[in-house]
Amino acid sequence: MTLKKNYIAGEWVDGEDAIANINPSDTNDVIGEYAQAGTAQLEEAVLAARRAFPAWSTGSIQARSEILDRIGQAILDRRVELGRLLAREEGKTLPEATGEVARAGQIFKYFAGEVLQLRGELQPSVRPGLDVSVTREPLGVIGLITPWNFPIAIPAWKIAPALAYGNCVVFKPAELVPGSAHALAEIIVAAGVPAGVFNLAMGPGRVIGDALVNHPHVDAVSFTGSQNTGRNIAAAAIGRMAKVQLEMGGKNPLVVLDDADLDTAVECAVNGAFFSTGQRCTASSRLVVTAGIHDRFIEAVVERLNGLVVDDALKDGTHIGPVVDERQLQQDQDYINIGSDEGAQLLCGGERVERATPGFYLTPALFTETTADMRINREEIFGPVASVIRADDYEQALAVANDTEFGLSAGIVTQSLKHASHFKRFSQAGMVMVNVPTAGVDYHVPFGGRKGSSYGAREQGSYAREFYTTVKTAYTSA
Ligand code: NDP
Repeated sequence: MTLKKNYIAGEWVDGEDAIANINPSDTNDVIGEYAQAGTAQLEEAVLAARRAFPAWSTGSIQARSEILDRIGQAILDRRVELGRLLAREEGKTLPEATGEVARAGQIFKYFAGEVLQLRGELQPSVRPGLDVSVTREPLGVIGLITPWNFPIAIPAWKIAPALAYGNCVVFKPAELVPGSAHALAEIIVAAGVPAGVFNLAMGPGRVIGDALVNHPHVDAVSFTGSQNTGRNIAAAAIGRMAKVQLEMGGKNPLVVLDDADLDTAVECAVNGAFFSTGQRCTASSRLVVTAGIHDRFIEAVVERLNGLVVDDALKDGTHIGPVVDERQLQQDQDYINIGSDEGAQLLCGGERVERATPGFYLTPALFTETTADMRINREEIFGPVASVIRADDYEQALAVANDTEFGLSAGIVTQSLKHASHFKRFSQAGMVMVNVPTAGVDYHVPFGGRKGSSYGAREQGSYAREFYTTVKTAYTSA
């Protein structure tokens, strides 16, 4: 098996160590061996990015746009092969994985266009004879740290805007999913990105991630992952006054009102809570259901769950792939026990099951008779586990929906324009969905949350420029 290497200062280099990339649907299947960078290599990557910055940030924007377009096209051309790799290393189903790869390609193409859209402003000064211009400039070297649950889309939505606006990048992917990151790096290199502009440094977060966040030549850090890690990264970055952006977890509510269309409600709940094995920061883990539809809704959801196939992510007909690894599976099972101990009723699922190959298979678990203060309704589980909270009416449902330290995504299923409009305005989430699942977003509009879910500027679409550029105000005397 050939070692997949890091890409630093324009060269593919061995690491100080290597790890095996294991298929969660079949733990006998080793996808590849991936190099692990040491801190000296990380240092080299940052310095290479620093050296490359002057030429890249002032070079031809036509060339930059064409490079991003080539990256996007190459990803789209290889979506089937890359989708297979992604499903094999992360465990989401093949259609979900292929869709994620296509999304990554579209993001690069979007930012190829965005390169040419960067505008400034020219204003008269309050002092006669002066002009004032307001322009945007790149930041410098950006450290990008990504989680395992979207192995190509999240890297794409950080790398593409960083490069588009003229920055250089050191990218540290999650240890569990080096395959997609490495394939993306190969595509970026083949598209003609100059040496040093893009660097791939695979390695453990506590070593390589930490060194990246604390490096004095890293001007900004964009992170997606858990709250704990995010909090530490923010403290370190702010401590040395580097710009930082965090996207973290969610405990996203889906409110189902009495007047909801039942099929839509069931579709939103099952898709939002359990697809991608519930391993989405936007998953609807809290189903807040008003009394008049409560029993019918639960009956229909359970019927639907019983028909879902939990199996190998690469198999035709699988609806829910495995959990990503043993540690995450243990966390899911711990929370299932916690819910039962707290007095919630486990209506279905929550069992570890065996399939033809050894993997981390868990049936989708639904809790009922839960209350908003239970740990299963307050802490992010990050697996195929959801709970139903009964509410008397819309007002109580809204209060329960907002009763969380998180605020990423929130949904409502209703036919009432009045309640939908009120919910859109008063939900304390960064993204609100009406009659669609809480998970599943577009790439050309802002992505991000409030409260404990996010920190700093939004990601994606033209709003990405808020993080990846800095504003300059210049005065000129005529
Ligand atoms: P982690 O926070 O453990 O890891 C995220 C990334 O940070 C990984 O690349 C990890 O590296 C790295 N890292 C770990 N420790 C450090 C450190 N001390 N310094 C710098 N970097 C570090 O999260 P997971 O990858 O386990 O992802 C699951 C979590 O992420 C869930 O809680 C989920 O809610 C959240 N998430 C949020 C999203 C959002 O957009 N809001 C999207 C996706 C996930 P390594 O893998 O090597 O440990």
